[in-house]
Amino acid sequence: MPRYEYRCRTCGDTFELSRPMADSASPASCPAGHPDTVKLLSTVAMTGAASTSRSPAPSSGGGGGGCCGGGCCG
Ligand SMILES: [Zn+2]
Repeated sequence: MPRYEYRCRTCGDTFELSRPMADSASPASCPAGHPDTVKLLSTVAMTGAASTSRSPAPSSGGGGGGCCGGGCCG
């Protein structure tokens, strides 16, 4: 029986359910009993480590003082 992953929009928890494909579209309630859940993409084919820490690229910018360059100081 395939497993499907759901996320609760009320408490933000994710949980998996093993249910037949015919019921994959039917609503599932989270373990805490919240009915507002969304079905996530299947994670069957997703094998591999996803890096969770990703730092944004530093923006290389030149000048200082963005305010007086415009017209807001004048
Ligand atoms: Zn919940």
